[in-house]
Order: sequence, then C-alpha cells, then structure tokens
Amino acid sequence: MEAVKDSNIKIVGAPPGIEGPGFMATSLDKVIGMARANSLWPLPFATSCCGIEFMATMAAHYDLGRFGAERLSFSPRQADLLMVMGTIAKKMAPILKQVYLQMAEPRWVLSMGACASSGGIFDTYSVLQGIDRIIPVDVYVPGCPPRPEQVIDGILKIQELVKNESIRRREGPQYKAMLAQYGIE
Ligand code: SF4
Repeated sequence: MEAVKDSNIKIVGAPPGIEGPGFMATSLDKVIGMARANSLWPLPFATSCCGIEFMATMAAHYDLGRFGAERLSFSPRQADLLMVMGTIAKKMAPILKQVYLQMAEPRWVLSMGACASSGGIFDTYSVLQGIDRIIPVDVYVPGCPPRPEQVIDGILKIQELVKNESIRRREGPQYKAMLAQYGIE
C-alpha cells in the first residue's frame, strides 16, 4: 500500500483488490480541526479605532475570505471566534462577558490592539486594563492599531490552535479549571 504524507494527513492508495484511489487515513481530531480552522465565523466586537482597521482587513485588498473567515456573525450563537477590537470601558465589560458566554463551545478569542489587550494609552479609572481580566484570550495582536497584515497573522495563529486542538480538550479538567478562574462554569 503506497502512502503519501503531508503534515497532518496520510493518503493511502487503494488496498489490493479494490479499484481506484480515494482512501484517506487520519484521525477524527485532524479532520474536524481542519474543517473548523478553515471556516471560522468571527464576531467583531469593535468599539473604536481598531475596528476601522478591521474593516480594511475585511475589504478586497486584504480579503480575509482567503482564509475562510469572511462570514462575520453578529449573533454570538453563530460565531466561534470573538474578535475584540478597541477600548473596553469597565461599564461595557459585563456585556462583553455576556457575549462570550452566549457563544457555544468551541470558541476562541482574539484580542486586537493595545486597548483590548491592556487598556493601551487609556490607563484610567473607567477603562478595563485588558480583556483577559474577564475572559480567556487565545491570541493577542499588538499595535495601535495593528496593521491588517498583523490581524491576518493573528487569524493564522488562531487557525493553528484550532487545527491542533483535541476535540475532547474542552471536556477536560484543565479547560474547566481555566474557565473557573474567570468565574465561568
Ligand atoms: S489600540 Fe490604538 S487604534 Fe486600537 S482602539 Fe486603542 S487607541 Fe484605537
């Protein structure tokens, strides 16, 4: 039996006695990871200037559709990637957390720009000093604002996480313990 390998998937020719090609040997984790990674549905939680840069990222010149992530969702029920971009006021923090909680598992979070990741230049009483104080973050994209190329790089890093995640990870005690740190059951 002839085997051809790429990084994740082994394609094997037909076993003796069976005509034609068309067999693929891999694990369920890899197939599901590949499908999820290439069909992300982002929810843009944009509050200020970083959101404008995200619009440029979505437009024809950069075209996030090349990575399977052009279908934006404005319902958390139909999104699996929460993209937070902009200054998050403390009064808005519970709303952001509610949006996160309304997303079904598996869900990922990308923090775009200095404000979302750390409060940025707004080191004041009214601004949340980083969204990871209220929800877990998978990828941080630095910058003020980040350029579209950086946002695309962040999406590619999310895709790598998605591809390599076991489908059982979110049922495991480590993941539940991590959520518990944020008061999420
Ligand atoms: S990081 Fe800079 S560009 Fe982004 S929201 Fe904050 S001030 Fe605006």
